[in-house]
Amino acid sequence: MKNVYYPLAGMNYIIDSIPQILKNKHPEDKKEIILYLSAQVNSYPHIGTLVNFISAFALAKQIKSTYNVPTKIRVELLESVTGKEEIINGVKYYKNLMNVVDKDGTTICEKYLPYFKEILNRLSTMDGIEYEIMFFYDYQKQTLVRKSLLEVLDNADILGEVLNPKDGSIRLRFECPKCGLVDKHNHNLKVIHKSKDKIILENECPIHGKHRLTVTENNEERFDMNVPLRYLVKAMYLIKSDKQNNTLSVIVDGGDWSGMWPLRVYMEPLLKLGYREPVNVIYTPTILDWSGSKLSKRMYVGNAAYREYMKEGLINYSEFYNQYGEIGFKRIYDEINLWVTDPKLFIRDYTIEYIDMILKGENIN
Ligand SMILES: [Zn+2]
Repeated sequence: MKNVYYPLAGMNYIIDSIPQILKNKHPEDKKEIILYLSAQVNSYPHIGTLVNFISAFALAKQIKSTYNVPTKIRVELLESVTGKEEIINGVKYYKNLMNVVDKDGTTICEKYLPYFKEILNRLSTMDGIEYEIMFFYDYQKQTLVRKSLLEVLDNADILGEVLNPKDGSIRLRFECPKCGLVDKHNHNLKVIHKSKDKIILENECPIHGKHRLTVTENNEERFDMNVPLRYLVKAMYLIKSDKQNNTLSVIVDGGDWSGMWPLRVYMEPLLKLGYREPVNVIYTPTILDWSGSKLSKRMYVGNAAYREYMKEGLINYSEFYNQYGEIGFKRIYDEINLWVTDPKLFIRDYTIEYIDMILKGENIN
């Protein structure tokens, strides 16, 4: 039998239940509480995704009963992100998950989406919490999102070095309308027009030549943003939208995005822009490999990664039930629903070995 210890750290010193994190936002006075999940639909969900999703539903249940306010989950699914990269004439291009099609005519997004929906439907039924899916390209059509983006671009001179110390650029990208190629590092980007309420950019497709993107508060031309820009615009959008609708939005993100990242990508820019409120985030436990690194998607660490564990179900949700069965799902669900009742169980990380023991029903002290 293995022993597990729970040393106090950080937030554990100031709260004794997770919903207390939101207490100073007066959730009881809000019309609705919305927890935001997000995922890139570019591979099978792995155990880290599952932990994040189960945590969000468990949190929603707990927050709803604590504050007695309607609570739902909104899942932002990113179909705009890299599906395939290629170098043409020394410039890196990518195509998004909707523009890369396999030999059967299925896009990457279509291939993996059912697995995400299966988990979400299952949790929604088990927890009695409603969820809705919001695709990135629908999200970015909203006036408040475009307003936030234009606000960032208008302040590019002070935000560039905050969001991108490497070269100070703000990475707003857009695809060739004919073939979907996107210039990843905006190598050929030209700013044609820039004012407070409108930006026109021009880029060049290696096959089809020049193409333009216009962003105003109300138009619908679609764009993609790199990760820090996407995070910041979302924070600004949520702050604006909460104010407008008397809602309380809370991002539920994996713990690997905590620490220095939110200070840099949320707080510094919001302060520089003169915001008086922060964005609300609750971080869920990160699942670590034996060496203490976050369990990653294979697409980022190589296809051979994690094979040595012989626990494919942890890495690839399509294998989860073959390996751990329905009882496995119930075990991890029960475990996480226990974590959210106690900050010292929830505000910490867990290893693959620990999760594997839980899934197999082994005894842990
Ligand atoms: Zn093209």
